[in-house]
Amino acid sequence: MRVAIVTVGDELLAGETVNSNAAWLGARLADRGVATERVVTLPDRIADIARVVNEYHAEYDAVLVTGGLGPTHDDLTMDGVAAAFGRGLEESEEAIAWLADHGGYAADDLAAGTAHLPADARVLHNEAGVAPGCVVESVYVLPGVPEEMKAMFEGIAEEFSGEARYVESVVTTEPESALLDRFERVQREFDVKVGSYPNENVRIRVESADEEVVERAIAWLRERVDLADA
Ligand code: ATP
Ligand code: MG
Repeated sequence: MRVAIVTVGDELLAGETVNSNAAWLGARLADRGVATERVVTLPDRIADIARVVNEYHAEYDAVLVTGGLGPTHDDLTMDGVAAAFGRGLEESEEAIAWLADHGGYAADDLAAGTAHLPADARVLHNEAGVAPGCVVESVYVLPGVPEEMKAMFEGIAEEFSGEARYVESVVTTEPESALLDRFERVQREFDVKVGSYPNENVRIRVESADEEVVERAIAWLRERVDLADA
């Protein structure tokens, strides 16, 4: 399963908020064997959201959108997702009834627009907040508040699955330029994907669908690079 993550918010683009939602979702999806192939951040602007959601819906098995739900003037995600599907927004009676039962919010207490979802969307209830999310075809719309987003994702996690991938790393004190021959050889000897991530030391990341192959490739590397202290 191949997915795209779309995070919405001017404050993310300005660097005022770190995009922890994308990192958290990417990790949870990887745990489930799902490949995240795009992460994009968009401004709070309906046309941009509609265009990107429409494009990614055609390209990927699923799209996860976070941020910009709720009734404030800068919450435009539902408008954008509805526009991507050529639908209007409608007040969801199911969402209002759930909020009355579970949140203790009488319909009259809810800010106007709180439960506006694209027509015929499946409602995702917000166990940790107010604004509901939704699913339109294979597009999942989740809140921006990290705790709300996480709680809502856990309710739909089972809908995301793929082939398990195994990952292990070796950290070496050698510079990348000195490692090129080992990178080439380990990929020739084993059917693995190898990544090289320099920082103070270089982390060599080995990935495969076969756990034993990963272990053998890691053992091979450990014998042939200068290891950093564990
Ligand atoms: P609510 O469900 O409360 O209406 P929302 O969906 O409207 O939330 P936003 O208004 O976009 O979410 O953002 C709410 C809070 O969550 C803000 O403090 C925002 O900075 C933070 N937030 C939004 N997106 C992300 C993200 N991708 N990573 C981390 N924090 C985020
Ligand atoms: Mg908001």
